[in-house]
Amino acid sequence: MLRIRDYRLGLYTIGDNVTESPRVRIAPSPTGHLHVGTARTALYNYLFAHHHKGTFVLRLEDTDEQRSDEAYTKDIIDGLRWLGLHWDEGPDVGGPYAPYRQTEKVDRYNHIANQLIAQGLAYFCYCTQEELSEQKDQQKSAGKAARYDNRCRHLTSQRIEQFDSQGRVPSIRFKLEEPRVVSWHDAIKGEIAIDSSDLGGDMVIVKSNGIAIYNFAVVIDDLDMKITHVIRGEDHIHNTAKQILLYEALGKTLPHFAHVALIFDAERRKLSKRQHGEAVHISRYRADGYMPEALVNYLAQMSWTPPDGRESFTLDEAAQMFDLSRVSKSPAIFDIARLNWYNSNYIRKLPLSTITDRAMPFLPEQSIKDMHRFDVEEIVGCVRDGLTVLSELPDAISFFLESSVDIEPEIQDTLLSRQSSQKVLCAFLQTLPTLPWGDHVKCKAAVDAIGQELGLKGKDLYWPIRAALSGKTQGPDLGSIISILGESKVRQRVESTLKLCHHL
Ligand code: GLU
Repeated sequence: MLRIRDYRLGLYTIGDNVTESPRVRIAPSPTGHLHVGTARTALYNYLFAHHHKGTFVLRLEDTDEQRSDEAYTKDIIDGLRWLGLHWDEGPDVGGPYAPYRQTEKVDRYNHIANQLIAQGLAYFCYCTQEELSEQKDQQKSAGKAARYDNRCRHLTSQRIEQFDSQGRVPSIRFKLEEPRVVSWHDAIKGEIAIDSSDLGGDMVIVKSNGIAIYNFAVVIDDLDMKITHVIRGEDHIHNTAKQILLYEALGKTLPHFAHVALIFDAERRKLSKRQHGEAVHISRYRADGYMPEALVNYLAQMSWTPPDGRESFTLDEAAQMFDLSRVSKSPAIFDIARLNWYNSNYIRKLPLSTITDRAMPFLPEQSIKDMHRFDVEEIVGCVRDGLTVLSELPDAISFFLESSVDIEPEIQDTLLSRQSSQKVLCAFLQTLPTLPWGDHVKCKAAVDAIGQELGLKGKDLYWPIRAALSGKTQGPDLGSIISILGESKVRQRVESTLKLCHHL
């Protein structure tokens, strides 16, 4: 059934059939680095907004003054921008928009909290931390779930005066309706119903230091910012029930809610900093030389299947196809092998100039500082097919840059002690003056010609030359290795390998 509802911005329909420009947000707390799960939620918000030609907003929920940190704020902003998830609105600071911040709205939250008190929907709570802990301990020893027992709901004015004279500073609690079943239609999970007696009793909305807590500030902000669809992690389902009660108390229409399932590891443990360390942070993937396109593609398909089932797509293509009804209800599994598969594909298929730009911070500065960009690009182009991440570059290209190579002892013992290998190297040495340097196809053809002459092919032909030039038997295209190294390095390496052969 198609229901039309009026919600400030105009008309839109319930569920995923959005007819008016939706407004969505990602609202991270800057109390840690940008988490993979937050990045996936940000991505789904971005895709939803772009699919429906709506607006995507970044709001930093920074009211937890003790745990919030500007370094985390920077990390979140940098990470979202790196992924290409640019937001469409925010304070104008020249250049890209800054994020909205909750700390800028402290007065507004207090103002609304006082309104709720005036309406009899909230009240001052004078309980101290010690009293609350004592309450919890008693509940625990009685085998009951921890909850606030609403003891300050009906304080007499005498009692309040007494607390005030003791110098107690109250917090503000919202009266949580009980018993009550809070239910909504979730655009991902379907019908959800939560018993309000599982919500922990009357909830603090403003702490005694005047700072609003998340469940309150988020409702005010989502209303003020005219957010139409709240798309966030499944770990917020109980918070959503609390927030719905607040929307009702404020007399406002609910936005649509969509809860994205959590991300687990292969052992079905929630992806967490404590269990998985830096692997849960986007910054780790940036530092390791992952392609943002690969992460976006991987995270997009992690819990969402495009209608045509394709595996590889760009951010824009995903936005064209995105649909909340195709987002999975079940937990996702973080699979590093699959992410690596995407990453090596993108390293292979993105323009070489892009890969070279991104490779620069990974290359040994001393060795490349005097090289032409063209030569750097050639080296990167030669090895990129074998890379999973760009941080493998220094190892992968070291044989190009160093003055000589060490051949692995096992290769020396087996491969180089063979007569056929020595013959290949001698013949190769003789052809060097005639090699078409700079043309990798022809360089390779020249090696094949040697093979024909000697009646050798495959490993017997290529491996001795590869070993002499790179120290290994596996690696990038042999023609490219020869052509990039150039005559003098090739000659020197083949000659020293032949000397080594004579001592074997
Ligand atoms: N600050 C909350 C978080 O980081 C935001 C949740 C929400 O989207 O409402 O999980």
